[in-house]
Amino acid sequence: MYDIIKLVIVMDLNLVKGVGEKAIEYLSNLNLYTINDLLFYYPYRYNFIKVIPLLEAPDDVTVTIKGIVDTEPRVSYINKSLNKMVFRINTDGYLVNVTIFNRSFYKSNLKLGRMINLIGKYNRQKNTFTASDIKFEIIRDFKIEPVYHLVKGIKSKGLSKLINECFNMNVEVEDYIPKYIVDKYKFMNKLEAAYNIHFPSNIDILKKARLRAIYEEFFIFMFKMNYLKHQYDLDNVGLGREVDRLKVDEFINTLPFKLTKDQLESVNDIYNDLLSPKRMNRLILGDVGSGKTCVASIGMYINYLSGYQSSLMAPTEILARQHYDSISSMFKNTNIKIALLVGSMKKSEKNKVYQELKEGQIDILIGTHALISEGVIFNNLGLVITDEQHRFGVNQRSNLQNKGIKSDVLYLSATPIPRTYALTIYGDMDTSIIKTKPNGRKDIITKIVKEKDLKDVLFHMVEEIKLGHQIYVVAPLIEDEDGESNLNDVVKLKEKFDTAFNNKIRVEILHGKMKNADKDVIMEEYKNGDIKVLISTTVIEVGVDVKNSTMMVIFNAERFGLATLHQLRGRVGRNDVQSYCYLISNLNVERLKVMEESNDGFYISEKDFELRGEGDLFGTRQSGDMVFKLADIRRDFKILVQCKKDSDEFIKTNLVNNFNDYPQFKNIIKELEFID
Ligand code: ADP
Ligand code: MG
Repeated sequence: MYDIIKLVIVMDLNLVKGVGEKAIEYLSNLNLYTINDLLFYYPYRYNFIKVIPLLEAPDDVTVTIKGIVDTEPRVSYINKSLNKMVFRINTDGYLVNVTIFNRSFYKSNLKLGRMINLIGKYNRQKNTFTASDIKFEIIRDFKIEPVYHLVKGIKSKGLSKLINECFNMNVEVEDYIPKYIVDKYKFMNKLEAAYNIHFPSNIDILKKARLRAIYEEFFIFMFKMNYLKHQYDLDNVGLGREVDRLKVDEFINTLPFKLTKDQLESVNDIYNDLLSPKRMNRLILGDVGSGKTCVASIGMYINYLSGYQSSLMAPTEILARQHYDSISSMFKNTNIKIALLVGSMKKSEKNKVYQELKEGQIDILIGTHALISEGVIFNNLGLVITDEQHRFGVNQRSNLQNKGIKSDVLYLSATPIPRTYALTIYGDMDTSIIKTKPNGRKDIITKIVKEKDLKDVLFHMVEEIKLGHQIYVVAPLIEDEDGESNLNDVVKLKEKFDTAFNNKIRVEILHGKMKNADKDVIMEEYKNGDIKVLISTTVIEVGVDVKNSTMMVIFNAERFGLATLHQLRGRVGRNDVQSYCYLISNLNVERLKVMEESNDGFYISEKDFELRGEGDLFGTRQSGDMVFKLADIRRDFKILVQCKKDSDEFIKTNLVNNFNDYPQFKNIIKELEFID
């Protein structure tokens, strides 16, 4: 099966000029497998290049100038694969000879008197300009150059060229904005927008193109949300349980701590929902470590008392295992049977789970996406919990296979977004908010430090380790092989720390490209304290809980959005010991100061919404906190609100005939209903 898929993929990219086996392999490291993937592999930022007067051009340095075509171009063929075109331009009154290779296809565009941009090098002595490219959509002052995330073997120029080539391939792309909406907003065509996002000739076009792409991302997102909501409204009759509240309280009393006020309120909300004749559709919103999982577990207990099975789905295997451990320990004094189901388990282990689940011997099933794979059939699933952490993972809200019971639904989210935003994003879900921290938790002391002062941080790290504590280090890249960026990477940081600590402190790395088995080993050794410093990309962002960690050091902190920084910082400060967070950054970025100021996720998110203005539009993509390519829920919130309205209308109009006029949306629905 895998081979067939691979074959098709290879054939697809093979069709593109200049793509061979090697390139295909390199591209796969960027998760680019098809022409379609390349078309929509957007730059994460842009360079703005100035057009300068020729007189200011230094000799033999690549510059961009503008000029008027002054003579008919002449083309000569040097050999089969090399042609040379020569013509003269008039730039600010100076006449200059231009030479350009392998661009004879531009000849017909080079009409006398036409204003063009030339990129290339000027030789003052010979008064010749050797151009590498010509731009016809004239830019008077500057040019916008896309900047892409790259990996080994892929260079920016080559990638740009390849993407450009893909636009010549006549591929069909699905447009997920209904035609009448495209017309209403006068959006550009989808491919035209994609082209202009890669190769914008000016800021206006880039803005328009991005708006179109952002709208589409949101439209798909809101479509899924609204569609699920409609489905939900259709069968909103719950299980109507009867549960003795005293028994619930008895269980709560067995926990090793007292619930916080907000936890108690959330438990009450869930208790009332579960007992009401309507199906529960509730979101628990609260900071990392605020005790959501604990509340969810009490929900599972209530569900258990009324005789039903529960499931808890987590976004990653690490997290699923962690939930499994902590929930098992919460229920250790009960007869509740808990099982784990994750992709990496052996087939025989999985089969055992399937069997016991079907027969109703398992009360709580915890796992990853594996929960919605084919073999999983519940006996009587009464409560479905999805731990989305900070992701708006609509895709995961699919129906689990169940015995025709309408399960109650609970989501956990650690994205502390302001309430109005939550209402938009989460539709008409009921929400419980946990703001209070578990008792005894101290604020995490946070400091911004320049890289030149790193030794202060290193000293502090050693002190913490002497106290028996552990430390997380986060870098934006795994490995910067070409050395093209100025960012810190995981691999180099390990070398740096090993040297600094004289190899006396055990430092290890963890990142997304490692095999799951290797990751597990590292996590295990970190958990049991063998590893003192764990350097990683934001993989650990998703929920690792090691209470002994008291310091978080984030390199190139300016690269991360506030939401991500807050999530990362939440990995420490998990008990009553003082914890620290260092934000290493050479830039004076306003939002980092917010982190110094506050530990309150809701305050930070308010600030986050405030600070993300249009200025961010072409800036660094803030990694990690969203599922969108271009769209940003905070910055583009107005667009999201409009999309919500539009998609709701679209669904209401088309639900009756099952989206027959829009096959592309039929596919989305299929995806929502049968994942895997
Ligand atoms: P979240 O799911 O919001 O990240 P958890 O429920 O996993 O939070 O709780 C984080 C940690 O705090 C866990 O180790 C949990 O046992 C502990 N905890 C939860 N509630 C309380 C409380 N009220 N008092 C003290 N510790 C708590
Ligand atoms: Mg949790």
